[in-house]
Amino acid sequence: MQILNWHNLTETERKNALSRSPLVGDESLEKNVAVIVNKVKTEQDAALIAYNQQFDGVSLTELKLSAAQIDAACCRVNEDIKQAVAQAMDNIESFHLAQQFEPITVDTQVGVRCELRSEAIEKVGLYIPGGTAPLISTVMMLALPAKIAGCEQRILVSPPPINDAIVYAANACGITEIFQVGGAQAIAALAFGTESVPAVDKIFGPGNRYVTEAKRLVSQDSRCVVSIDMPAGPSEVLLIAEKEANPEFIAADLLSQAEHGPDSQVMLVTDCAALADDVNAALNRQLEALPRIDIAQQALESSRTILVSDMKEAALVSNRYGPEHLIIQTQTPRDLLTSIRAAGSVFLGAYTPESVGDYASGTNHVLPTYGYSRAVSSLSLADFSRRFTVQELTADGLLGLGETVMILAAAEQLDAHKNAVKLRLDSLSLQEGKA
Ligand code: NAD
Repeated sequence: MQILNWHNLTETERKNALSRSPLVGDESLEKNVAVIVNKVKTEQDAALIAYNQQFDGVSLTELKLSAAQIDAACCRVNEDIKQAVAQAMDNIESFHLAQQFEPITVDTQVGVRCELRSEAIEKVGLYIPGGTAPLISTVMMLALPAKIAGCEQRILVSPPPINDAIVYAANACGITEIFQVGGAQAIAALAFGTESVPAVDKIFGPGNRYVTEAKRLVSQDSRCVVSIDMPAGPSEVLLIAEKEANPEFIAADLLSQAEHGPDSQVMLVTDCAALADDVNAALNRQLEALPRIDIAQQALESSRTILVSDMKEAALVSNRYGPEHLIIQTQTPRDLLTSIRAAGSVFLGAYTPESVGDYASGTNHVLPTYGYSRAVSSLSLADFSRRFTVQELTADGLLGLGETVMILAAAEQLDAHKNAVKLRLDSLSLQEGKA
């Protein structure tokens, strides 16, 4: 990886050092994805079937898996995977069950009650990437919270041919509607609905540039009403390390993100030049043994090591980058945690490889990328429901609040608003007069 000294960089060079390759909003990407989205909108299943052939080389007539296909796929999955899925599910379930919403009721003044309540989103679409790796773990990360939240209709889509273990995990997480379709076309199908794929209210899940751009486009399309979880694009990690850190551990963690895709990015921020060299040597050694060496090598080409003067500066650089995953391998990693302002998920200490969060510690691995971690939260149970408010006033409550509302309504020149209060106050004073 290229090694850069933060102090020798101009402001523009610093900006470049922390830049990612274009994810969304790229003009040609937007054009290509818009063509796919529009074709699915007009030609529905026929377009999905054609794109399956064009992009995934799979010819299908039925997009939805039948119950018999689901059973057969589950039978083909080996016991080791089933047990690993069971343990991961336990941890993910525990952590997400603990996030359940507690309704809030506040009497803001006498006779004025305000409530915050939550209801599950009825129809959700879950995108499981499958282009270069069958992400079984993503099934659990999306399907379990959707089930715990109480989402009634849970539709899963993934590129064909769908992997048996994806089907097994989906089935174990209570998903019954599974469609073999991926990419931008799957997102369009979930947004608009087709003859076989139902339209949903919200689309969840990570994916490559096409998937991420399609999510952005449909969420802004006036022809449908669908929202999306977040811009969860190509994976990235930033690792902060001190000189005592183990270069082999660091290299392994960096490669575990680099192997996701050629557009993944990994960054090392350290105050120790010797460690940076040792990590580069370890990267070269470990790369050779990886089956996905080509993908990882391409990702490393746009990845960098940044030398800083101390850990305080490392935190500043990390906050400016806003990584999806942040690994802190220092002697006392918790001390640095309080300086972290932007990161999707944080991994503390030498024995917390990022892979544990990807699969089985219990946290959700669907995280904001591309610097969005500055403002967007990691996926959690709350994303599968909508919060809404309720208010209830007694007559005394309206007597106590009415005058304020009428003054504000008059100031905004909204007489009908004022009138809705005045009529009631007048009726209350009439009643009082009679009594
Ligand atoms: P994918 O399922 O996202 O994409 C595969 C699909 O892309 C194919 O089915 C095809 O339809 C479409 N496609 C391929 N080439 C195309 C082209 N030229 N034009 C139009 N469409 C095309 O799977 P993937 O490619 O393996 O990508 C998964 C991504 O998800 C990776 O980038 C990974 O880093 C990311 N990821 C992110 C998170 C997160 O939380 N941010 C978590 C897991 C994975």
